[in-house]
Amino acid sequence: MLTKKQLAIQLSKLASFEKPKIKLEQYTTDSEIAATILWDALMKGDIVGKTVADFGAGTGILGIGALLLGAKHVFFVEKDTDAVRILQTNILPLRAENYEIRQMDVKDFQERVDTVLQNPPFGTRQEHADKIFLEKAFSLSNVVYSFHKTATDVFVRAIAADHAFTIPEYYSFSFPLRQTYAHQIKKRELIEVTCYRLVKQ
Ligand code: SAH
Repeated sequence: MLTKKQLAIQLSKLASFEKPKIKLEQYTTDSEIAATILWDALMKGDIVGKTVADFGAGTGILGIGALLLGAKHVFFVEKDTDAVRILQTNILPLRAENYEIRQMDVKDFQERVDTVLQNPPFGTRQEHADKIFLEKAFSLSNVVYSFHKTATDVFVRAIAADHAFTIPEYYSFSFPLRQTYAHQIKKRELIEVTCYRLVKQ
């Protein structure tokens, strides 16, 4: 069994986006933050023996973490070919068989799962992308971990209430902003992000 520290180290070794696409809001969750959320999910009983979906999986850090911690099955749902290619190289060394990579739009995914993990687009480039991800997650799972810009807190709480989801826990972080994007001038800009644990009432 892994420790939280070993999990963070393993996740830090994964490859991330080569040329992140601004339109798809591609960026990788920081490995320490991913390990914190995954560890909490583990402690809450949301991982071991569970079917998990990683929506907007990107290079796979959240779903790979779930596999390392004992998920029964993981669906990686990601529409971008380049991201899927990196995800495949990240996952091969695990020699796992209990996962599927679904290259598709999240809105078309239909499997019911126990837990959704997602760090979706924040909706800054694709309007309402955050809403589409949340509504899809609510329709397929009773437990959802979802990252959002803290500035959109009121919106997240309203949409959760509309779908009869409560927020028993949330965790706030300062994310290093997507430094790789050419249009950003400041190198070490931070963005306030909250990960919500949403549970069906
Ligand atoms: N979950 C990863 C990546 C987050 S970036 C991590 O935590 O590191 C958001 C990802 O969502 C990107 O890889 C982007 O390509 C993907 N994405 C954006 N819109 C999508 C959609 N409608 N359907 C599926 N994937 C989408």
